[in-house]
Amino acid sequence: MFRDYPGEEKTSGTVVKILLHICCAPCALYPLKALEGKGYEVQGLWYNPNIHLYQEYCRRRDSLKDYAVRTNLPVIYNDEYGLREFICMVGKGEGEDRCLTCYRLRLLRAAGIAKQENFDSFTTTLLSSPYQKHKLIRKIGEQVAEKAGVTFHYEDFRVGNKENIRLSKEIGLYRQQYCGCIYSEYERFKK
Ligand code: SF4
Repeated sequence: MFRDYPGEEKTSGTVVKILLHICCAPCALYPLKALEGKGYEVQGLWYNPNIHLYQEYCRRRDSLKDYAVRTNLPVIYNDEYGLREFICMVGKGEGEDRCLTCYRLRLLRAAGIAKQENFDSFTTTLLSSPYQKHKLIRKIGEQVAEKAGVTFHYEDFRVGNKENIRLSKEIGLYRQQYCGCIYSEYERFKK
């Protein structure tokens, strides 16, 4: 439905396969449009063990599944709910280190799968959120890419944030109220 882009020029030539790590369906709308508009062959990856509690995790995952089915988007599901593991990794969850660990965890997996499945590059919808630590995501993406021997595609998808919001409301996608981990839920609602 919304992945049909009538009237938009696609770059011709060799098909470049890219793995798009997807944190949630609404954040994927503009990156998909941007990448496919440039001629990339995109496959999604769901791997977000940072999302808590379990019912919230399922809602976000199922919202992506629903969107993917409706638009024929191929997605690899690494369906791992990681409450205990995540808490062990981030400890008390204080400061920037928590998000750094969280980004690295997810992007390391994306880089590993991109390498293993012969993608030309990988990227993440985390780059479309104005609420995330954008520079840090880019830095970690490039670091894990180098480690895995694959290319990290950096693009500032934040330019499409308003479009993500408008389209996701239009097609009725589930829109979350907080970033993901149990700490972010508390920080969002404590007031
Ligand atoms: S606030 Fe968001 S990015 Fe930071 S650790 Fe929690 S889920 Fe991850």
